[in-house]
Amino acid sequence: MAKIGFIGLGNMGGPMAVNLVNAGHSVKVFDLSDAALEQAQEAGCQVAESARQAAEQADFVITMLPADKHVQAVYLGEDGLNKVLGKDTLAIDCSTISAETARKVAAGLAEEGIRFIDAPVSGGVAGARAGTLTFICGGEAAAVENARAVLNDMGKNVFHAGESGAGQVAKICNNMLLSVLMAGTAEALQLGIAHGLDAKTLSEIMLKSSGRNWTLEVYNPCPGVMANVPSSKGYEGGFLVDLMSKDLGLAQQAALASGAMTPMGSLTHNLYRSWAQLGHGQEDFSSIFKYVQPKSK
Ligand code: NAD
Repeated sequence: MAKIGFIGLGNMGGPMAVNLVNAGHSVKVFDLSDAALEQAQEAGCQVAESARQAAEQADFVITMLPADKHVQAVYLGEDGLNKVLGKDTLAIDCSTISAETARKVAAGLAEEGIRFIDAPVSGGVAGARAGTLTFICGGEAAAVENARAVLNDMGKNVFHAGESGAGQVAKICNNMLLSVLMAGTAEALQLGIAHGLDAKTLSEIMLKSSGRNWTLEVYNPCPGVMANVPSSKGYEGGFLVDLMSKDLGLAQQAALASGAMTPMGSLTHNLYRSWAQLGHGQEDFSSIFKYVQPKSK
C-alpha cells in the first residue's frame, strides 16, 4: 500500500485515481474542478487544497493533465512541486505532452534530487475505467521498475521505451498512426456507402481482408455498426478531436526537430485541426467520419 498524490482528475485521471483507491492505496487528490474533487471524494480519495498539499510526503505523485503548460506549471511553476517533493518520492507524469517538456521537467526535478518518469497512456477512457491501460514509460530503468507498484493497479501493460522523453515519443508515434488508420477507415467506409454498400457488411469484409485494423476491430467510426462505441452514441465521450489534434501537433513538432518525414501525419494533423475549427473539438475523434461524408446530390 502506497501513499499517492494524484493531480488532474479529468476523463482519464478520475477513474485512474479510483482504481488506485480500490487497490488499497491511500490517495490524496487535487484538481481545479470542484465537481471532479467531489466525485473522487465519494469514491474514497482524500481531497487536498492544492497540488502541493496532495503531493506532500507521498511515495508517488501522479499527474494526468491536459498539456505541456499545465505539467510544467505544476512541477516547475511558482508553487511547483519541485519545492515540496522529497527525494524518496517518484513523480510519474501520465499526460501526453512533448518529449522536450518531459525532459525539461525531469531535469528541473533532478536538480532537487527528485526522480521523474514520463508515462503517457494508451487505452482511452474505457481502459482508464477498466484498469487496462498501457503505460509507455521514459526514464531510468530502476524508476520505471519502482513505478510498476502503482501502474499495475491502473493498467495491464508497462513498457520502458527508453530514456527520459522516450515514452512521449512512442506515444505520439502511436497516435499519429491511429489518426491515419481512423481517417483512412472513415473514407473507405464512406466510399462504400456512397456506392450503396451496407457499412456493416463492408466492415466485415475489410476485417477479413488486408485493410483490417484496430478501428474496424473495436472502434468503428460509422454509427450503428458497433454497439457501445462513441460513433453509436452521438460521438460523445472517448478521445476528443481537440486532444487528437494536440497530439498530432506534437508529432509534427517532433518530426520538424528530427527531420523525420511524416506526410500522412501532416495530412491528418490538418484534417483534425480543421475539424476542430469547424466546431467538433469536443466530439470523439472517430467523428472525422462525418467530415468525409459526401454532400447529398
Ligand atoms: P481532461 O481535460 O478530461 O482532464 C484534465 C484535468 O486536469 C481536468 O479535470 C482539469 O481541471 C485538470 N487540471 C488542469 N490544470 C490543472 C492544475 N493546474 N491542477 C490540477 N488540475 C488541473 O483530459 P483527459 O481526457 O483526462 O486527458 C488527460 C491527458 O491524457 C491529456 O494529456 C490527454 O492527451 C491524455 N490522454 C487522453 C486520453 C483520452 O481518451 N481522453 C487517452 C490517452 C491519453
